Amino acid sequence: MAQLIDGKAVANALDEKTKAQVDEMIEAGMVRPGLTVILVGEDGASQVYVRRKIKACQKVGISSSEHRLPADTSQADLLALIEKLNNDPTVHGILCQVPLPAHIDTRLVLRSISPDKDVDGFHPVNVGRLSTGTGGIVPCTPLGVMILLQSVIDDFKGKDAVVIGKSNIVGKPVANLLLDAECTVTVTHIYTQGLPDICRKADIIVAAAGAPRLVKGDWVKPGAVIIDVGITRVLDEATGKEQLLGDVDFDNCQHAGAITPVPGGVGPMTIACLMANTVQAAKALQARPATADDLYEDAPDRSMFA
Ligand code: NAD
Repeated sequence: MAQLIDGKAVANALDEKTKAQVDEMIEAGMVRPGLTVILVGEDGASQVYVRRKIKACQKVGISSSEHRLPADTSQADLLALIEKLNNDPTVHGILCQVPLPAHIDTRLVLRSISPDKDVDGFHPVNVGRLSTGTGGIVPCTPLGVMILLQSVIDDFKGKDAVVIGKSNIVGKPVANLLLDAECTVTVTHIYTQGLPDICRKADIIVAAAGAPRLVKGDWVKPGAVIIDVGITRVLDEATGKEQLLGDVDFDNCQHAGAITPVPGGVGPMTIACLMANTVQAAKALQARPATADDLYEDAPDRSMFA
């Protein structure tokens, strides 16, 4: 049987560490880390996600606030709120829940969040920092994937890693993190030829395709480590209940060295990493005065971010 990588247990351990860091900051006289969540409109799933994030803040001692705005909020008003939060020293993380209503330019809004408060790690400045290995805030799910891998792998150097999926929010940042860890990385996608053979050589497989049970047992080398990021909701016809399916045929991959389940693998890590990112941002912002020059120190040509 493969070792089960228990995402809930790893996430709980990360929460403990985050809480201890918050306590240390308070003892050192620093401002308590603060996360602000902006929700525009009445999207039901978004409301659930926001509630979970606020609850997670309470668990680790991060102060949280919510801005619930009506669906017809103008883009200008939303940008003005973000500008205010960018300049608020008690706010260290700003999260604007997507999807935004159609009349709002999501890219513009997400880029208006200060890169130092961008706890989702999606701002082009943070993407650039990640791809050049110069720090910055790492997106939550990819960070969670790496922490899960670190829980079972001591030395990544020279390992053959395959990432299935090349999205900006999962596949590409995971590939960059694995490269930084000195793996040899193959990034694959829907048009990749010969995916089963590519996987058969891998020491590490990170599946983030959103294709239920794509990775079959005979694609997996004995002893490989598998992280299943995929989550697809399907109706189980036998029970009439909704079921969550991962991208990996879990039952037939038990010859792997270690594997994450779905649910209970990557899922619990994402919010725990959001909390960790908020504390990291709060520490960085309080360690030095934030100036525009600090924000762009690795990118002399600022016009590209305008
Ligand atoms: P996406 O749709 O943006 O990207 C999917 C990628 O997978 C694309 O690059 C596509 O080319 C590739 N792909 C799709 N089908 C494929 C196939 N049959 N073979 C090879 N490649 C294929 O998706 P995303 O936002 O990156 O999310 C991927 C999955 O991860 C989804 O199931 C999503 O729900 C899940 N997810 C989970 C978490 C979490 O917290 N656990 C967070 C983010 C995403």
